[in-house]
Amino acid sequence: MDVSLNNIGKKYEGREKFTIRHIDLEIKSQDFCVILGPSGCGKSTLLRMIAGLNSITEGELLFGDKLMNKVEPKDRNIAMVFQSYALYPHMTVYDNMAFSLKMRKASKELIHERVMEAAEVLQIKDYLYNRPAEISGGQRQRVALGRAMVRKPAVFLMDEPLSNLDAKLREHMRVELVRLHKRLGTTSIYVTHDQTEAMTMATKIVLLNNGVIQQQGPPEELYQHPANLFVAGFIGTPTMNTFAGQIESGQFVSEGGSFTMAAPEGMRELFAAHEGRKITLGVRGERFEEGLSDLNHLEMKVEVIEMLGKEQLLYCTLKDGKQCVISAPGYKKYTTDEDVVFHVKPEAMHFFDTESGLRLENLSEKK
Ligand code: ADP
Ligand code: MG
Repeated sequence: MDVSLNNIGKKYEGREKFTIRHIDLEIKSQDFCVILGPSGCGKSTLLRMIAGLNSITEGELLFGDKLMNKVEPKDRNIAMVFQSYALYPHMTVYDNMAFSLKMRKASKELIHERVMEAAEVLQIKDYLYNRPAEISGGQRQRVALGRAMVRKPAVFLMDEPLSNLDAKLREHMRVELVRLHKRLGTTSIYVTHDQTEAMTMATKIVLLNNGVIQQQGPPEELYQHPANLFVAGFIGTPTMNTFAGQIESGQFVSEGGSFTMAAPEGMRELFAAHEGRKITLGVRGERFEEGLSDLNHLEMKVEVIEMLGKEQLLYCTLKDGKQCVISAPGYKKYTTDEDVVFHVKPEAMHFFDTESGLRLENLSEKK
């Protein structure tokens, strides 16, 4: 089932401002759509609007071509899994999963078929007759998923369902959920504040801040072409390095003047058009290459080394005191206090308008 949001907005009663503004979103049935953003940005509000648990102040919500704004939650053919997946403690796993179908007066045969099918997919068949207290957190989370699955909803809504699990199990469940999605092919909308979860699971990320979409698209697009400084900073670890500066004589000159970068080939005209403008250069840690190049280079001192095994993070300081983090392969040898020289290929540079935060390319489009 395709889900469309047309100019959706939400204003809670008693609040002065809209919590959610102008959301335009198309979610296709094969999509695993992740709504991502910092705490308090309105992710749950948006998901609950899709579920029918929050009213919609303005705009249209469509499932397929059917307007859903006023449809009762129980008639939306959705299932929702929350972070706190309170199972009924006195019921067995089987009965927990069967509960919603029983309430809907489904036949015993159908209930059994659905529960067994979900248990098979989620690999919890061995615990069907245990109570929640007798199984692990990860198993309980699977039961919560199973409870939603047995209904065979048209849309699967999940609100931070993995946040209560430990890191290892979370990693495991990420893969499980993607597998499950592939297998069931149910439109899935998943809320998280964790960019790693979004990057690894999503076919489409919708990054929200202050109730407004900052960018939507496949994970690699947000990573490689962040639309603004917020996206650039939110997606990716370590955080993208940013350097304040301005355009002088068609070049990027860093604040303090410790380095300059020639305008990348395809951006010369853009640079010329914005001569004198304050801009911010963004470079991901893994895009620094050792040694000199004709175009540019950065001299710095390694201050702290964080060895992670396959990579190491070099926390460096430039001559002007500005800091940056470089991700280097783990097998290379660096020492603290070492002087190093790196360069950055033009295609690895991102330029943003410092004032608006917009990607320079997007800025000129708007003009
Ligand atoms: P997130 O899930 O991204 O952390 P929420 O959607 O829970 O964010 O909340 C977004 C904003 O809406 C917050 O400022 C929160 O205080 C506010 N909010 C959430 N629920 C209500 C409510 N029922 N009434 C008024 N304000 C609310
Ligand atoms: Mg939330």
